[in-house]
Amino acid sequence: MEILHEIDEIKEIRRSISDSVLGFVPTMGALHGGHLALIEQSVKKCDKTIVSIFVNPTQFGAGEDYEKYPRNVEEDLKKCGDAGVDYVFLPTNSTIYGQQAPLIVLKVLPELSSILCGKSRPTHFDGVVQVVSIFFNIIRPDVAFFGEKDYQQFIIVKKLAENFHLPIEILSVPTVREPNGLAKSSRNCYLSDSEKSSAANIYKILLEVKQRADSARFDRLAIPVEFVENEARRRLKSLVPNIEIDYLEIRNTFDLSKSRFLMKDSRIFIAVYIGQTRLIDNLYIGA
Ligand code: AMP
Repeated sequence: MEILHEIDEIKEIRRSISDSVLGFVPTMGALHGGHLALIEQSVKKCDKTIVSIFVNPTQFGAGEDYEKYPRNVEEDLKKCGDAGVDYVFLPTNSTIYGQQAPLIVLKVLPELSSILCGKSRPTHFDGVVQVVSIFFNIIRPDVAFFGEKDYQQFIIVKKLAENFHLPIEILSVPTVREPNGLAKSSRNCYLSDSEKSSAANIYKILLEVKQRADSARFDRLAIPVEFVENEARRRLKSLVPNIEIDYLEIRNTFDLSKSRFLMKDSRIFIAVYIGQTRLIDNLYIGA
């Protein structure tokens, strides 16, 4: 496995493997089973795999956890080596963004950027598309892998590739969970043991809503989305009284649009605060 820091090194490598199908897994490090599932898919589907480890400052808002975000490069490199990664790209902020603030930036329009996570993190997805497009231009992968865990991000990156006609296939990988159902996340290290068991109720609620959607489909009933959302919020609050729900919404899985009644291809999205920690999750519920 080669560890690369400079853009020129990446370009040189890309030239030397121009005939290979290159898979790319962008990460912010503190790697866990979720990241490893993405890497596993890339190693399986592509000739070569490159992983980036970069805590991207532009996707963090003021007062968010950029400074204290977990960083553990030595362990990350070992995990990448064991997983069969060919290259790890470890750039610095100035390698990616230069010494001065950029004069050209990308913007995600409000239809996608001001809903769900964008409501409380209004500049987050602009930062994501900025860094992802820079990575795509440097690395020129054939395939890029994103987790369903950050489903809104996956949809936005898919749109980025589509709108800019990028010759890159954007693939999603199902969410990897702890045995209690909690979606694996680098931020789970902020949780105490009791907060972790409280957090397991998030997935429980997602499953309950899926069950509700399954029976609605079976009974051919038209059920108002708002009713299901309110019921799920109430249930979650009763299971974890001190939880703060940022959003709990059912939307279309392809374009994140809302409908009045449970429709086929629905997905439930949730973001909560448990103590100081913000957690997100989502599940395809069909209906
Ligand atoms: P991050 O390091 O949090 O930016 O995540 C890097 C990639 O790993 C993103 O595409 C995430 O969606 C994905 N990812 C993070 N957690 C999980 C998980 N539990 N299951 C699947 N993919 C994940």
